[in-house]
Amino acid sequence: SLLVEDLSLSFGSIPAVDKVSLAIPAGDIVALVGHSGSGKSTLLRLIAGLERPDSGRVVINGTEVSGPNAFVPPERRGIGMMFQDYALFPHLSVLKNVLFGLRRVPAGEARERARQALDRVGLGGREDAFPHALSGGEQQRVALARAMVPGPDLLLMDEPFSNLDRRTRDIIRDETTAVLRESGTTTVVVTHDPDDAMRIADRIVMMQGGRFAQSGTAEELYQHPASLPVARFFCELN
Ligand code: ATP
Ligand code: MG
Repeated sequence: SLLVEDLSLSFGSIPAVDKVSLAIPAGDIVALVGHSGSGKSTLLRLIAGLERPDSGRVVINGTEVSGPNAFVPPERRGIGMMFQDYALFPHLSVLKNVLFGLRRVPAGEARERARQALDRVGLGGREDAFPHALSGGEQQRVALARAMVPGPDLLLMDEPFSNLDRRTRDIIRDETTAVLRESGTTTVVVTHDPDDAMRIADRIVMMQGGRFAQSGTAEELYQHPASLPVARFFCELN
């Protein structure tokens, strides 16, 4: 589970994240949506521990990881990350990229788990390929396998499907959702695509100027938007 309380971070005079609170029960998937610059990535980075908050707390599975009395570094938060700027290592094979997620596991067991993770995302048999020899969608699946292989308590994804064409994106998105549901992984996914948000998430949170403009199920936001920006966001649905 994830608990965020009154979390704030400013860059100079810009309040990128402004007193945000959020509670996600274990196994739930929340989509963060909103216009460019609304603070989605900053919130995700605060949860990951890639930024320190000015104030507020982050609690993962009951442990305070950011707060007045604690700061646990990202690698000890039990999180998986799938960010656009956390691309694959180009000089490492598919298998070695996934093994990177298991640096602390004994070699034999790590290989076995990495192979299983690749099977699960449909890339069994491609272990020795290098990233440049994979399509964009296949690379995304390797990144998913790498993020999921340690069995994270929390998975954070920032625009994970944005470099894919519509059709590939729909496929990868649905496969990813199936993997997350099957494993019961608590997930926060940032997306600017209303269709993605509606299909992946139990709950959608719309950000505006560092704050939550509205939060609810896809149906609630779609049928009862509290403001024009929320209504506009869902107008983009096809
Ligand atoms: P996008 O959809 O374009 O990715 P976003 O919702 O993820 O946008 P953030 O990246 O969280 O937005 O940025 C929120 C605000 O904080 C923006 O005004 C941005 O310019 C500012 N910001 C983010 N990171 C930094 C930084 N390292 N230094 C200064 N300002 C920053
Ligand atoms: Mg962003």
